[in-house]
Amino acid sequence: MAKSVLSAKHFHDEEAAYAYLEDKIWPEGPICPHCSGFERISKMQGKATRIGLYKCYQCRKQFRVTVGTVFEYSHVPLNIWLQAVALLTSSKKGISSNQLHRTLGVTLKTAWFMSHRIREAMRDGTLAPMGGSDGTFGNVEADETFIGREPGVEKKRGGYSHKMKVLSLVDREAKQVRSVVINDLTAETIMPILEENIAKEASLMTDEAGQYNSAGDKFIDHQTVNHSQEEYVRGDVHTNTVEGYFSIFKRGMRGIYQHCAKKHLHRYLTEFDFRYNNRIRLGVDDMARAENALRGIVGKRLTYRTINSRA
Ligand SMILES: [Zn+2]
Repeated sequence: MAKSVLSAKHFHDEEAAYAYLEDKIWPEGPICPHCSGFERISKMQGKATRIGLYKCYQCRKQFRVTVGTVFEYSHVPLNIWLQAVALLTSSKKGISSNQLHRTLGVTLKTAWFMSHRIREAMRDGTLAPMGGSDGTFGNVEADETFIGREPGVEKKRGGYSHKMKVLSLVDREAKQVRSVVINDLTAETIMPILEENIAKEASLMTDEAGQYNSAGDKFIDHQTVNHSQEEYVRGDVHTNTVEGYFSIFKRGMRGIYQHCAKKHLHRYLTEFDFRYNNRIRLGVDDMARAENALRGIVGKRLTYRTINSRA
């Protein structure tokens, strides 16, 4: 008989959920978040004790595995959190707060907050330059896409000035994407992002847009395809990989997340980047992808206030 992915015990039993998460976060045993001690730690026992509670006898403080993570200060049981992570990481186009609200039985506001916290866990902390991995000189594609409405800008027919702008970079060899929200398409905005994120030894592939004119001085090689002349591929010169990424992103944003304020757009990009960088074709199955997201929960506390105040 087929076995549902969601039939695992850690999705239904809070104690099993803690054991599961502890195994992922503390593979070598519990570590005290207050003093970083690990030698004199005991699990708190007894009926009245909250689930997953430990005591550190070095600093005499108590803690749980969720301290200092995006799951801290939440009234949602940990097994429900793990269900939310499984749903959000396994749905190719994402999953709406409304759907999470109905599926998990939490309020809409809680579902919205949970999904943003999980996106924060998906955020990649690595800043290694793209296109220069393993000493090889790689190919990096850069391109922009437009979505939704730029706040405060009147809608015009044609053009993209009234839309929000996204810049994505794809390392073709490592098959990884990195996306940022940008305010305009000037060289002053875009070139510093390219220089920060792409190795000098990389070969950059873009379209013929003027903002990339100086890229030849910054990277070992800069090749362009002339889209206005209907040129899309010339040998290995193309931006098809990054455009493929944009089509997944846009289908998800249109189909699942119809309304997205600019101040939250970077979080949705994080989610789509994460799934792309942990996709099946790279050998990452649904369970491994959820585990990779869980590894990112540490040190990323996110409160309702920080979510809403960040412009
Ligand atoms: Zn301690």
